[in-house]
Amino acid sequence: MIVARTVAEFRAARAGAPAPVGFVPTMGYLHQGHLALVHAAREECATVAASIFVNPTQFGPNEDFERYPRDEERDLQLLEAAGTDLVLLPPVDEMYPPGDTTRVRVSGITEVLEGARRPGHFEGVTTVVSKLFAMVQPDRAYFGEKDGQQLRVIRRMTRDLLLPIEIVACPTVREPDGLAMSSRNVYLSADERAQALSLSAGLRAASEAFDRGERDAGRLRAMVREGIEAQPLTDINYVSLADSETLEELDGAVGRAAMLSLAVRFSGATLIDNVTLEP
Ligand code: AMP
Repeated sequence: MIVARTVAEFRAARAGAPAPVGFVPTMGYLHQGHLALVHAAREECATVAASIFVNPTQFGPNEDFERYPRDEERDLQLLEAAGTDLVLLPPVDEMYPPGDTTRVRVSGITEVLEGARRPGHFEGVTTVVSKLFAMVQPDRAYFGEKDGQQLRVIRRMTRDLLLPIEIVACPTVREPDGLAMSSRNVYLSADERAQALSLSAGLRAASEAFDRGERDAGRLRAMVREGIEAQPLTDINYVSLADSETLEELDGAVGRAAMLSLAVRFSGATLIDNVTLEP
């Protein structure tokens, strides 16, 4: 496994890599959710490239950029064991050269949900992913359904910029009790960790109700809300049931594919999760 810390080093290693090249961008502190993306890339691609970069432009001024968990040594061991060929691990000034003023912005679907909660977040995401795509030039890039809105934003950007990259979505990997794996789960206290089960439990209950024929958007959202509100350490930012493509909030009967998603704040972290509902 080649570990490149500069753009030039990465480009030199990439030059001889056999196609197709699969790419897994991450912010590190890897867990089984990230590794599922690497495994999917390994199955389908001759070369697997991954990046570890905690991207400052996607964090707001009062967010956790400084304290975001990091463990480079362990991450590299996990990537190597999973069969990664190339790792890009750049310092901030390689990704954002001094004087950098260029940003990539997708409008519309970036303005709701996580975009409303975190102004500027998606501009940071699309900017860094554009830079990473330009550097890695992958044939396929792997993203988790866990970040459902991000996946849709990246698909839109890739399509709009005519990038010849296939965006591959991988299912959310969960702890045995249902909690979606996240690098931010380490911020939870033991009590919060127990109460955080209400997120996935609510999504699952609503999804099961949907499969039994419940189609009312308001009632489906309410089912999720009630279970979470019963937990005193939670603070709901949003529970949304939106068109899976446009992310426009749905009312009345759900007649097309929809994303049921939520963001819930705990004392040290906000967790997000979602499921897709398909009639
Ligand atoms: P992050 O390091 O949080 O930026 O995530 C890097 C990639 O891993 C993104 O495509 C995420 O959607 C994906 N990912 C994170 N957590 C999970 C999970 N529990 N299951 C599947 N994919 C995930």
